[in-house]
Amino acid sequence: VKQSGGNDVVFYSSEMDEEYRFKRQLASNLRLALENGQLELHYQPQCHVDDQEIRSFEALLRWNDPELGQVSPGRFIPIAEETGLIIPLGEWVLRTACFEAASWKNPLGIGVNLSAVQLQKHELPDVVASILQESGLDPNRLELEVTETALIHNPARSMKILSDIKKLGVRIAMDDFGTGYSSLATLQNFPVDRIKIDQSFVNKLVGNAQAGAIVRAVINLSRDLALDVIAEGVETDEQETFLTDHDCRAVQGYKYGYPRPITDYRHIVHPQDDN
Ligand code: C2E
Ligand code: CA
Ligand code: CA
Ligand code: CA
Repeated sequence: VKQSGGNDVVFYSSEMDEEYRFKRQLASNLRLALENGQLELHYQPQCHVDDQEIRSFEALLRWNDPELGQVSPGRFIPIAEETGLIIPLGEWVLRTACFEAASWKNPLGIGVNLSAVQLQKHELPDVVASILQESGLDPNRLELEVTETALIHNPARSMKILSDIKKLGVRIAMDDFGTGYSSLATLQNFPVDRIKIDQSFVNKLVGNAQAGAIVRAVINLSRDLALDVIAEGVETDEQETFLTDHDCRAVQGYKYGYPRPITDYRHIVHPQDDN
């Protein structure tokens, strides 16, 4: 027990203290990285199995901190959400990805992740609209990825925000499908265009009957609801075979390409260039 200033008594353990300090450091370094232009987007291909051609890319945030080294989004996104930094950060991601995609000769799709916190802000549809306008990106090339958990927090509000975004002509994908709550009701109630089968099912596909049953059910469900479906985290031929056998033809994963700086995919987005 620590006596802090006046009469306030603060309980703490040194471990909590350290974790807290580390989070504070991450948050303040992340803020600096955003201000100083030290964040980067990597782009991962989304392919069609029939011709193995890239149809779109998902933008994924990368942060290489001078002090901390490479910090994974799984680590820093939750902290950005807690501190509210996710709002300017998410806007930076959206703007950067839209301007990038608008510059491509090949008009491929672009997927951008939205945080639950962004989905609670009434300004979001206006932000999306002005970024589309400024960048000149065709709205139907943009797909925003949201999770079920983000939607059920405040369903009425996120529903209104999502349908305003959809009116702009933007597509919505349900990310990490099957890992949250109330999957079926969510699909019925929200204006979703595509389901992303979570990689936790895909990577167990071979030799795990339950994962196979879940993936089959999700594919059938999307067909019955006339939604598109894509599998994420596809790494092996066996996984791909299972998916195509069950008529899921859109795929994303290390088998088709890692998230890389867009310069590595220059020949795809600028197919006429000779270099
Ligand atoms: P996510 O949206 O589900 O993204 C897929 C994650 O799986 C990415 O991890 C990607 O690099 C990884 N991945 C792709 N293919 C494979 C594969 O074949 N095998 C395996 N094992 N993994 C694969 P990453 O880039 O570390 O991102 C983790 C999570 O951080 C994302 O999960 C997303 O929830 C969040 N995130 C990343 N960028 C952003 C962003 O710009 N905004 C927001 N709000 N969240 C982001
Ligand atoms: Ca995603
Ligand atoms: Ca995902
Ligand atoms: Ca995920």
